[in-house]
Amino acid sequence: AKDAGRNTYKFYERSMNLKTHELLLLENDLRHALSRDQLELYYQPQLDLQSNCIVGFEALLRWNHPERGLVSPLEFIPLAEETGLIVSMGEWILRSACRQIRTWNEEHGRQLRVAVNISARQFHHYDLVHCVEKVLEQTGVPTEWLELEITESLLMYDIQSSIETMMRLKKLGVRLAIDDFGTGYSSLSYLKKFPICSLKIDKSFVDDLLTDASDAAIAESTLALASKMDLMVVAEGIEQQEQLDYLQQRGCQFGQGYLISRPLPVAQCTQFCRERFTE
Ligand code: C2E
Ligand code: CA
Ligand code: CA
Ligand code: CA
Repeated sequence: AKDAGRNTYKFYERSMNLKTHELLLLENDLRHALSRDQLELYYQPQLDLQSNCIVGFEALLRWNHPERGLVSPLEFIPLAEETGLIVSMGEWILRSACRQIRTWNEEHGRQLRVAVNISARQFHHYDLVHCVEKVLEQTGVPTEWLELEITESLLMYDIQSSIETMMRLKKLGVRLAIDDFGTGYSSLSYLKKFPICSLKIDKSFVDDLLTDASDAAIAESTLALASKMDLMVVAEGIEQQEQLDYLQQRGCQFGQGYLISRPLPVAQCTQFCRERFTE
């Protein structure tokens, strides 16, 4: 039987595009990832650059694959989107993140927030508002502790319905951030219609902030725009002290990146909080 299995495998490998086959295997594994307890949220601390205090965390999904090891979300989130698995995964992510922030806030008597990434399918083809409402109720988390990160390109897909969904989320009291700001095709004129709290400057602009004049210009324009529109700015991917100083000096409120901390598994992040908050 083992040989037959191997032959079947070879047959498929020969007859199908290798990449497609790879994807099918991965997709099949992904179907079981949630029930087999292979998904895990890591948390990356977000720093208030002006006061140097931790203000919250971004939840980042990890898949511990039994044979492949840690699979990048860049690989499996698109797959989860295509297959619709993102809906059940997304609800699990929201619930886990809310429970976790409650635990940390209870331990330290803080009001830290947690930012959760929302993908296009979750946002457009499914009642996200209802799900968020349900999860907040079940976990007893104050709505303002939850921030949803929504990419610019996702919003541009259907602007009118995006605005409606955002309005409903805003009414619940959750905070909304535009992720990967500047990388999409958004028209700035829409920005004022979006009920958002903050913009996230993409890592690609932070990387060469000190050497590339156009990246610096984009970062600075984002900061100027946000300031005029009363929005907060979060810079992501800060790896060097010089990048942090640059952003801090230009009034960027929040930042995250390896310089401050890598995304951490719960146990390590709990340790990070204890060192930071109980001194
Ligand atoms: P993103 O939302 O733009 O997340 C930022 C990415 O940059 C994360 O990669 C993070 O680990 C990484 N990062 C943060 N600071 C630094 C730094 O200083 N240096 C470097 N080199 N990288 C840094 P990650 O965790 O691999 O996630 C990649 C993307 O996958 C995310 O991009 C997001 O679009 C998506 N993703 C991750 N978790 C989730 C999730 O729970 N739901 C959804 N829908 N998407 C997710
Ligand atoms: Ca994000
Ligand atoms: Ca990004
Ligand atoms: Ca560049």
